[in-house]
Amino acid sequence: MSDSGMRGTLAGQKALVTGANSGIGRAIALALGRAGADVVVSYNRGEAAAVEVASELQALGVRALVHGANVAREAEVEAMFARAVAELGTLDIVVPNAGMQKDARFDRMTLEEWDQVIGVNLTGQFLCARAAVREFLRRGRRDVSRALGKIIHVSSVHEVIPWAGHVNYAASKGGVMLLMKSVAQEVAPLGIRVNSIGPGAVRTPINRAAWDTPAALDKLLELIPYKRIGEPEDIARAAVWLASDESDYVTGTTLFVDGGMTLYPEFADGG
Ligand code: BGC
Repeated sequence: MSDSGMRGTLAGQKALVTGANSGIGRAIALALGRAGADVVVSYNRGEAAAVEVASELQALGVRALVHGANVAREAEVEAMFARAVAELGTLDIVVPNAGMQKDARFDRMTLEEWDQVIGVNLTGQFLCARAAVREFLRRGRRDVSRALGKIIHVSSVHEVIPWAGHVNYAASKGGVMLLMKSVAQEVAPLGIRVNSIGPGAVRTPINRAAWDTPAALDKLLELIPYKRIGEPEDIARAAVWLASDESDYVTGTTLFVDGGMTLYPEFADGG
């Protein structure tokens, strides 16, 4: 085991990250590993990339498990958690991160586009959070952390910012906000902490069109007071903090990591 793995703030803890083959999920999985956690690298499409993330984790000296599952399907989520527990013993940190966009003008949005996005982004987060709470309760206290367990939802600035052309996505993230807060309220007395990260515009495949030309990036930066696009590692650092005892008194909160995107930048010289 590497020195960083041995001494990390999450040493001995077991984590599961969905959508860990790419973008924000990949960065979170690697950062949790660097902090010393063993990690289940969950993916739906993109096995080769997931295997690569797992190899990077193993090179850090932690255990990594690659598991394919569609988080919108209950049986697949249940099988994934069963395997994680069978192979790692339990889970301490669960990061429902997998998400997708199927953008369309509202009057042209199909029920399929609605159902797919709600299925992965909202139902998927419900199924993973429920499986996490069940596992935390089953195995009881462990001496690796003050909390019985931690859930970190990956939401979006669009849990509060309405988004024309992306109604299914914004509705899913608005749903994640009250899913997170309601579960947090319910399980806090049991010692479980539940929070969200609300990323702004982060350089990942999901929004490539918004940053991969200079003109698109300039337009995007008008929405970001801090005047830079986010990097997956910006989100990953917040996830490590929310997973650690450093944030032990934090529950039911969305931590926006967005360069100020939620600050209504268009009012800076208007209104
Ligand atoms: C979306 C991105 C978008 C960002 C800021 C994210 O949740 O997935 O496509 O760039 O919000 O609008």
